[in-house]
Parts: sequence; C-alpha cells; structure tokens
Amino acid sequence: MIQVAINGYGTIGKRVADAVREQPDMEVLGVAKTRPNFEAETAVEKGYPLYAAIEDRADRFAEAGLEIAGPVEDLVSNADIVVDATPSGIGAENKSLYEEYDTPALYQGGEDADLVDVSFNARSNFEAATGTQHVRVVSCNTTGLSRVIAPLQEAYGVEKVRATLVRRGGDPGQTSRGPINDILPDPVTIPSHHGPDVETIFPDLDIDTLGMKVPATLMHMHSLNVTLEEAVDAAEIRDRFADESRLFLIPESMSIDGSGKLKEYAHDAGRPRGDLWENCIWEESISTVGRDCYLFQGIHQESDVVPENVDAIRAVLGASDATDSIATTNEHLGIGF
Ligand code: NAD
Repeated sequence: MIQVAINGYGTIGKRVADAVREQPDMEVLGVAKTRPNFEAETAVEKGYPLYAAIEDRADRFAEAGLEIAGPVEDLVSNADIVVDATPSGIGAENKSLYEEYDTPALYQGGEDADLVDVSFNARSNFEAATGTQHVRVVSCNTTGLSRVIAPLQEAYGVEKVRATLVRRGGDPGQTSRGPINDILPDPVTIPSHHGPDVETIFPDLDIDTLGMKVPATLMHMHSLNVTLEEAVDAAEIRDRFADESRLFLIPESMSIDGSGKLKEYAHDAGRPRGDLWENCIWEESISTVGRDCYLFQGIHQESDVVPENVDAIRAVLGASDATDSIATTNEHLGIGF
C-alpha cells in the first residue's frame, strides 16, 4: 500500500484524503493542519491521524480536545509521497521540508510551474511524471481545458484555442471573497495567465484565454472555441467526448440549465459534498462552423483536480500506467454518471 501524507487539509486536501482512502492500492498515513477547526474535527472523526503543521501551535489542538500524532516532519519522513494542498505559495515554502526527507511531493495549481519538474494532467501527460520528485497538479481551470484539448488534438490537430473563463469569485466556504455584486475582467490584461498554464501541459499549443470573475461560488464556466486542423462534424466530436471518462456530456433531456442544477444533480446522485469530478459539457453546445468547434463547460473548482492528484501519486511512483490508473481512480471514486 502506498502511504500518502496530506499536508494542508482544506478544500482540496480533505477531498484528496477521502479519494485516496477509497483506492485499493494506497492509504492515508495522516493529514497535517496548522490549527484546529471543523475540518480538523472531521479529520479525526474519519480516523485520519492528525499532525501539527506548525510545531509552536501544536498545543492549540490539545486545547480543542484534538489528539496530535506528531509534527509534520514525522508524517513526511514516513510517507511514500506527500500531497501538498496548502494555500498558494506555501507549497513552495514547504519544498525544502520534502527535500530534506527525500519524499516526493505533489503540489497544487496555486504554485508556480517552475517550482516543479513536471506539471501534470492524467489524460494528457501521465508518463512525464514518472520517476520525478516534484510535480504540480495543474489548476481546476487548466485541468478542465486540458481534458478537452487532449482528445481534440489527438484526433484532429489543434490550430488555436480561444477560451473565456467566467470564474467563481470564491469557494462556498470563502466568506471573505468577492465580488459581491459586480462582474470583473480578471485579470484585466489579455491574455490571462491560464493560457500559459495550459502550455505547461501542451508546450506547442497556440492558446489565448480571457478571465472574468462573477459573484458566484458553485462553479466556473468556460466558453471555448477550438480551431481544428480539419473540418469535423459536431456529432463526431460529441461521440468522441462521450468516450472520455472525465467528460460528462449533459444531455438536453436532463434540463440542466446552469451550475445550480448541476450541483443539485450531483447531490441527488449521492456525490460526496456534491462534487463534480468531471468536466460538465452541455452536449447541445458542442457545435462546429467549418474548422471551429465551440462548447460551454462547467468546471467544479473544488473537485475536478481530485482524481488527478490520485493519478499523479501512481504516476510519480511508477505504480501504474495512465490507462490503468485512470480506470482504477474512476472506479473507486465513482466517476461517471
Ligand atoms: P484552503 O485554504 O481551502 O486549504 C488550505 C489548507 O492548508 C487550510 O486548511 C490551511 O489552514 C492549511 N495551511 C495553511 N498553511 C499551512 C502550512 N504551512 N502547512 C500545512 N497546512 C497549511 O485552500 P485550497 O482551496 O484547498 O487550495 C489549496 C491549493 O489548491 C492552492 O494551491 C490552490 O490554488 C489549489 N486549488 C484550489 C482550488 C479551489 O478552487 N479551491 C482548485 C484547484 C486548485
């Protein structure tokens, strides 16, 4: 069993821990947190050994009635791999800790690409991570774009991608984030940083992205235009996407008109935390005009990177190939409606 440490147990870390626990070939060695809160309490209730990420603050856990298994150094030194799911920039500060114990580490999309050996998306470049020490699982938006670009590029070649990302202002728990009542060009400069981030996965891709922020918490929405190298029928692209395990084509018959009903559907379907691990593409939106393909997709920012982290664990440790890892992760997480 692969022993996995999770450093940073927030929105992403707690989901990755639960996903790791579901896998037949890995287990959660422990999770590290900086301070006691409701997430620390539920970690203990779930049976995850809790480690103190900052030694000076370890007493606070005892004061809150939470038992600490030890300092984060113990967790890192005993793990086969660490998933760092700390806030943007903290992963970079933690890198020396992982190097000190020679423990390979996964970082999240908030870190810079030049921190790591490889930026990772399971569908697009699984093998590139094998045998490396420091890997970045790309952001929710880059994951969502990569999963669509990979099959299009393989089948038809991609001349140019233009994507407009309408981004949620904050996650549901991020009460301090905004905008409250506004629509922001964000970043106002064009292209946004998302295009270069996708190029960390597809180095030769021609892609421009524009970003906006809106007062929503549920999901991001992408409006995508991909110019292919040949003209293709929309029906053929729909069929191709239907074969992709992490693309969910929302059928017209479901009457899902936006993120609200998508999340409602995820809850009704019994998904943990209402998570949507797949890109949610409105099937009717997949259209072609000559060589231009268009579509709308919803991206659940809190969860689409979770299966990618699980696959990245196997990729880094050389424990599986891409096809088997993706199939195992999907099966044990319950991906696919
Ligand atoms: P979060 O704030 O929800 O969780 C981070 C956790 O790390 C918190 O529990 C925090 O207390 C803890 N932490 C802070 N400093 C720490 C330290 N030094 N050691 C250990 N733990 C520490 O953040 P998040 O949304 O889970 O984001 C984590 C990473 O994932 C970021 O790089 C982010 O960019 C990326 N990401 C976030 C989303 C999203 O929508 N939330 C999506 C994709 C990728």
